[in-house]
Amino acid sequence: EPVLVGTDLRKTYSQTAALDGASMTVGAGEIVAVMGPSGSGKSTLLHCMAGIVAPESGTVVYNGQTLSAMSDKDRSALRRTEFGFVFQFGQLVPELTCLENVALPLRLGGLARAKAEESAREWLARLEVDGTADKRPGEVSGGQGQRVAVARALVTGPKVIFADEPTGALDSLNGEQVMRLLIDTAKETGAAIVLVTHEPRVAAYSDREVIVRDGRARQVEMVQ
Ligand code: ADP
Ligand code: ADP
Repeated sequence: EPVLVGTDLRKTYSQTAALDGASMTVGAGEIVAVMGPSGSGKSTLLHCMAGIVAPESGTVVYNGQTLSAMSDKDRSALRRTEFGFVFQFGQLVPELTCLENVALPLRLGGLARAKAEESAREWLARLEVDGTADKRPGEVSGGQGQRVAVARALVTGPKVIFADEPTGALDSLNGEQVMRLLIDTAKETGAAIVLVTHEPRVAAYSDREVIVRDGRARQVEMVQ
């Protein structure tokens, strides 16, 4: 039973067809790796599936709701409550402490500061970076910053986590630790992951692969 279904997605930037009829599905709790060469359309596919970029044609349906049929306000609310995001560079707010960064999605959802920071503290501990709570992102290492970003993506209890090259800026040891924590916490909470990567080592954590070439996606069952 898929939670997220993208069908025949097309998106053109000036002359470039970034997506040329791409389709993919994501099952509940499933970890799907999106692979393919640089420029093949992986990020654009992720952005369309997450309702960040509107495709020119095709549909994305999340739990029976067609994203393009929703108002901007409803779509943002859905992104905030049901989805989590991790990018290559953490995109933490530099002026806030790591604790405040993790608490931010809960604060935006209307939760009181004390409650939000209590949850944020638990998530920092789960990601084994409690020591970063009072530091700003600029004062922590790249690996620690990505763990904080993962904590921030998970703190709202998302059903789908969108991760675009989440370990792309890390060395292999830190990358492996971040992936392990991301996968373990997702499995514990039942969140699905759409994982864009060009690294087979990272894709090896997935349940299934989707290969994108020239803006078209092909589903591949993993042969373990
Ligand atoms: P990948 O993630 O596989 O590297 P992208 O989805 O980032 O691929 O890009 C697919 C194609 O679309 C590339 O040719 C890229 O240059 C182009 N593209 C992506 N985003 C934009 C944009 N915002 N403006 C113009 N071209 C873009
Ligand atoms: P990745 O594919 O690893 O996510 P990119 O460097 O391809 O990273 O893209 C980073 C951002 O720049 C994305 O938001 C993408 O949409 C945008 N982008 C990519 N290619 C172009 C382009 N040719 N012109 C403008 N924006 C682009």
